[in-house]
Amino acid sequence: MSLNPRLVKESFSAVEPFAEKAAGYFYGRLFTLCPHMRGMFPPGMDAQRDRLFNALTRIVWMLDSPEGLASYLAQLGRDHRKYGVAPEHYTAVGSALLATVKHFAAEVWTDEIEAAWTEAYAMAAKLMIDAAAAEKTPPWWLAEVTDHERRTRDIAVLTLRPSQPMHFIPGQYVTVQTARWPRVWRRFSIANAPRADGTLRLHVRAVPGGWVSTALVRHTRIGDQLLLGPPAGTMTPPETDRDLLCVAGGTGLAPLKAVIEHVIASGERPNIHLLFGVRRACDLYDMPDLARMEAVFPWLRVLPVVSDDPAYDGIRGRLPDVIERFHSWTDHEVYVCGPPPMVDETVRRLRSSGVPPSQIHHDPTQPHTVHSGL
Ligand SMILES: Cc1cc2nc3c(=O)[nH]c(=O)nc-3n(C[C@H](O)[C@H](O)[C@H](O)COP(=O)(O)OP(=O)(O)OC[C@H]3O[C@@H](n4cnc5c(N)ncnc54)[C@H](O)[C@@H]3O)c2cc1C
Repeated sequence: MSLNPRLVKESFSAVEPFAEKAAGYFYGRLFTLCPHMRGMFPPGMDAQRDRLFNALTRIVWMLDSPEGLASYLAQLGRDHRKYGVAPEHYTAVGSALLATVKHFAAEVWTDEIEAAWTEAYAMAAKLMIDAAAAEKTPPWWLAEVTDHERRTRDIAVLTLRPSQPMHFIPGQYVTVQTARWPRVWRRFSIANAPRADGTLRLHVRAVPGGWVSTALVRHTRIGDQLLLGPPAGTMTPPETDRDLLCVAGGTGLAPLKAVIEHVIASGERPNIHLLFGVRRACDLYDMPDLARMEAVFPWLRVLPVVSDDPAYDGIRGRLPDVIERFHSWTDHEVYVCGPPPMVDETVRRLRSSGVPPSQIHHDPTQPHTVHSGL
């Protein structure tokens, strides 16, 4: 039997309007089939339901592009090791998934559609299981907090020492779990290039009501232990000698700092413009360090930009507007990181000003598109 993406997509479109109900039904079936799997999921399942559907939607719509799908599924498979997922769990997930789509697409359901879903899921599960089995790195790392600096009311810079070496590429992120919120993982960018002592830095902003960010900023102390998932992300350093434009909104500075540190250490000397945007001048939480980098690498220009502070005596405005005040960036390799709306708008404006998409690098702006947490 061969894969039939058309049948899978058509039947999935009958399920999509009932996304929330379907996700609830799916987890109900899954935990009935396999009650012990409930322990792999966070206490609150609301965000989890969105994650499931975002991931499933992405997989279904990628069925026509095998290469992109294979690397996405391989990443998911590797990442799921940190939840303790074993091959037998995929069988239970497959049964619950099939029962769910069959239930919500009952009006259009046929034997052919069932065969198409069975085939597609078997292919996806095999890719995830094989990628997990082939992975040599640990499923997660224990890391000790060796420093915790409160830079502003909401922002802390944490230094972590993983118990085993963690190899990563500058610009990548890790997922983090705190003792306060078992089984709840959130992504945080690594804010440094690899160091001889193996330590990592994270820049964390506590979002109002945020579980993990608040725990990291307000309730974490030196000596505490965190769990880290494997590094991931494709916003990695350029392989060209083009000049660089880095556009950072708030703690979006973290991965861009890692990329810049890497470029400085590489011995290359491109001109680098770093636009670091915040709302108020007091949110410029990393200026002494950035000034030190500027002092050792004269090709770096750090430009703080403040949007909501009329008294600020420097560049004022929103980042997407400010980048347009400069000369053209079409010859630059561009890195953008920060709140999703800022990233989306900056990328859109850069593209319409003629910067080729292949020269623009950013992380996914949808919070839950990478780790489904199935
Ligand atoms: C690739 C990637 C890298 C990231 N790197 C960093 C980083 O280096 N530093 C960092 O501080 N964050 C980073 N984030 C965001 C981080 O992963 C969390 O989403 C964020 O810290 C909120 O998690 P939480 O558990 O505290 O909040 P949740 O418990 O998930 O959310 C609680 C409430 O806050 C809202 N909320 C969630 N995120 C935000 C937000 N950003 N602003 C306002 N409200 C929000 C939610 O809608 C919800 O209502 C990154 C995200 C991605 C996708």
